Amino acid sequence: MIQVLHISAECYPAAKTGGLADVVGSLPKYFTDAGMLSAAIIPKYSLKWIHSRDWVTVYSGSVWVNWRERRFSVQQEAGNTLGYPLFVVDIPGLYDRPGIYNDPSGAPYSDEVERYITFQQAVLDWLLSFPWQERPRVLHCHDHHTALIPWMVKYCPAYQQLAPIPTVFTIHNGQYQGAFSWTNGHLLPPYEAAARWVLDWNGAVNPMAAAIKTAWAVTTVSETYLYELHQNSLGLEQLFRDEWRKEWGIINGIDAAVWDPAVDPMIQHRLENDDIQQFKAKNKQALCEWFGFPADAPLISYIGRMVGEKGVDLLPDTYRRFIYSGTKACFLVLGTGEPWTQNQFRAMAHQFPGRFNAVIDYNEALSHQIYAGSDFLIMPSRVEPCGLNQMYAMRYGTIPIVRSIGGLKDTVPDIGEPDGQGRGIRFDQFSMDDAVYALHRAISMWHSEPDVVAALRRRIMAVDFSWEQTIGKYRKVYRSIGAHIDPVLEPAAEKTGPAPASRKAAKPTEKPAKKAVLTEKTAAKPAKKPAETEKSATPIPPAAQKEKTKKLPAKTRPAAAPAPKKTGPKSDSRKKT
Ligand code: ADP
Repeated sequence: MIQVLHISAECYPAAKTGGLADVVGSLPKYFTDAGMLSAAIIPKYSLKWIHSRDWVTVYSGSVWVNWRERRFSVQQEAGNTLGYPLFVVDIPGLYDRPGIYNDPSGAPYSDEVERYITFQQAVLDWLLSFPWQERPRVLHCHDHHTALIPWMVKYCPAYQQLAPIPTVFTIHNGQYQGAFSWTNGHLLPPYEAAARWVLDWNGAVNPMAAAIKTAWAVTTVSETYLYELHQNSLGLEQLFRDEWRKEWGIINGIDAAVWDPAVDPMIQHRLENDDIQQFKAKNKQALCEWFGFPADAPLISYIGRMVGEKGVDLLPDTYRRFIYSGTKACFLVLGTGEPWTQNQFRAMAHQFPGRFNAVIDYNEALSHQIYAGSDFLIMPSRVEPCGLNQMYAMRYGTIPIVRSIGGLKDTVPDIGEPDGQGRGIRFDQFSMDDAVYALHRAISMWHSEPDVVAALRRRIMAVDFSWEQTIGKYRKVYRSIGAHIDPVLEPAAEKTGPAPASRKAAKPTEKPAKKAVLTEKTAAKPAKKPAETEKSATPIPPAAQKEKTKKLPAKTRPAAAPAPKKTGPKSDSRKKT
């Protein structure tokens, strides 16, 4: 029996434009590894990975949206190659398109509201077909694309049979709330009249607001980001404050099997015999040859979407300042996004050969090589809910230079902090002066203190960012709403859910005691929210409490988990609407 069903618009490697996919692709895998069968369901897009797999139809049905009947089927990936069941919902006419959110020209699909509402209804229609004792114990919804599900099961008569199942809503990015005008209200399934106010926020239908009000628990992807949402969340601040009792900040993990410098097939030179210096030097050499950089200068890279929230517009002028002053340093960027920024970078690549280069593309393999071969990775984000790049960089011995915001603050203590446990260089203000100063610190450290750089690399590569750390926290959330997600095979998985031997063997981060200390520190860092002990005593929303005691699936029920294949995933990317 599936214990947790993750419902999302993206899941790596099937459909990715960013971190949402990485997280939805990892959580079920690590829960399943720990004996708690979890699955993911996404729309069936017309994408390469999806076409390359075999799919078995497990359900066919139809839902009414926009005055018409939409036929759909739910299909399961035949080989179970991800190590957990992946389902897709095939809805002809809505998702059989080459993009996730945008058409190939970059324009967002104009019928996105209808697409998401249809997908969510289709998922619920499928769940209704399960015998009640076989239904998942938790519906875990991710971002605004699936945010209406907690509301639908509560207020839409067609789906109210599912109301006893606890719902969790995870916010990967509060900038995108999925709000739409009431003129599209007819797209929604019939609902109780009194439920209209739950959907409404500032005169529009706001799925994210509805989920914050109706989900049994709400999580965000770092503690600091949760705190920031209370201060600034595009109008939802008061709602976040009102609902604080059910909110949790849980930092993402990274898939240590995919991001493993010792076995990563996408990098030129893998880590051997723990020789970090060789590993970095050889990979840097490869990058320098490709991009025409000198090897005797620090290489500072940027990887990511070129959009305002990533703060990438700060980089052209900041880099020019170093280049014009003759500083010995090189700069590389990889990403796609706003035309203005892309054009700036293109022009600079022509203007400053040997100092600056840019790849305007989405290229998963190149991103791995850049993480492996750079000296520093810069993330000047305006907003950063969690950020995965800094964790990937650290895993590959690349020192992060980050703005003190969201998850970056939680994962990258500054090397200047008195406890000597720093992992990178941080700057506070979103300004060129602050960014220049941070880069200046990095460049002079590289030139004048190679021993410090080497020691820092060793330290950051040993930090354990794996999901095993994180799934224990999600279990705590599930428990707080009365869903006891229990390991079926290994009672010992209780503490933080150990991975199976196969995955463990591939993961060099498990042994040194030093690492555990570093990890502990991160977890304990900026607790802007009530402490976790307080949280476990937190009252559950009264409605949820009632439902829980009524009909919660018995915690002792055996989960007939099909033995998943432990094939390590391949790699690959996200953006929202
Ligand atoms: P966000 O989800 O906000 O874009 P995250 O840091 O959470 O940011 O995740 C970004 C993910 O997307 C990382 O896996 C990063 O390596 C990847 N990525 C972003 N842009 C590119 C690109 N142009 N080429 C390859 N990978 C990319």
